Amino acid sequence: MELFNVYPLNDITPVRALGAQLWDDKGQQYLDFYGGHAVISIGHSHPHYVQRLTEQVQKIGFYSNSVHIPIQRELAQKLGEVSGYPDYTLFLCNSGAEANENALKLASFHTGKSHVIAFKGSFHGRTSGAVAATDNPKIVAPFNANHSISFLPYDLEEVERVLQEKLTCAVIIEPIQGVGGIIMPSDKFLQGLDELCRANGVVLIADEVQCGYGRSGKFFAHQHASIKPGIISVAKGMGNGFPIGGILISPEFKASYGLLGTTFGGNHLACAAALAVLEVIEQENLLEHARQMGEYLKTELLANGDAQEVRGRGLMVGLKYDFPIKNVRDQLLTEHHIFVGNASDPTVLRLLPPLNIKQEEVNQFLQALYALIAIEAEAKPA
Ligand code: PMP
Repeated sequence: MELFNVYPLNDITPVRALGAQLWDDKGQQYLDFYGGHAVISIGHSHPHYVQRLTEQVQKIGFYSNSVHIPIQRELAQKLGEVSGYPDYTLFLCNSGAEANENALKLASFHTGKSHVIAFKGSFHGRTSGAVAATDNPKIVAPFNANHSISFLPYDLEEVERVLQEKLTCAVIIEPIQGVGGIIMPSDKFLQGLDELCRANGVVLIADEVQCGYGRSGKFFAHQHASIKPGIISVAKGMGNGFPIGGILISPEFKASYGLLGTTFGGNHLACAAALAVLEVIEQENLLEHARQMGEYLKTELLANGDAQEVRGRGLMVGLKYDFPIKNVRDQLLTEHHIFVGNASDPTVLRLLPPLNIKQEEVNQFLQALYALIAIEAEAKPA
């Protein structure tokens, strides 16, 4: 049987990984400055993670949600503590798209309305509701049973106008846009949005699938703006490679929890992985580390990286150039053996290294980038 894969394929077969390092089947070593698309939070095969998962699968790997699964409660308790949301309820599922799907469903069920406001350049996943709220013409299907959508710029007057015109259930936003190219709405914008949602009985959904879990230097990126969204979606870094997602739900939506459910969500192994991630984030003080390494990376890039813009927070950094970055990205991989990301804007390079990246690894990336940018600048017509 043939295997379908939508993503452009690099001719590399990683067979082993540790921290921010990968090795392929030929023994070549790579630096991972992309984390498999923001998934690797605490580094590949962290010893504590390996131990937690191994011990769990030796005891019990799965039973359905029809029995007590104490590790789910342990995870909810820990996530509440570490994130600063002890009063919210956790629903566990398996991916970022599924998290957003459930967030949108809950918002529309709770409010009895169906219009959704999303933002230009957004990416929320590939399932029906999530893809409908995704501003990417390549992947949107005409079928969407549930929602009508407005894609707006970061402009509060526009949001208010649509809220007055349409029966809106939710505003969904990435507090730092990932796939779109590390684009940040201002703290003031997020605060105004939070106020507008509250005043109009609309659910604010923060999609923290990419920017959450410590990546921005705070547990959630929206916490830089000191707002409290009604629903927060998480996935990616939550499991450090083990598929898991979830939504954190404000107690005000309790009456609508009944429509949430899934077979695999909250299975023993996924919970063990997610607990190990939180324990390592805490024990190794990774929020502070991500802040410090992010500051160092950004300061260096602003001084020497020749980018038009250096965007982002913590270890979620976008470099915007005045030329397409495809060559630079390809050569980082093939000549310098460093993985970095691209974005839907072809002039943006996306950096998402593990939260425990070491300073010497940041330096290794910077040296390689500077060398390539110098070559690119020379090749440009004067
Ligand atoms: N939301 C955001 C912000 C994302 O970046 C992504 C994945 N790129 C998703 C949702 C979808 O997550 P998943 O691929 O796990 O369904």
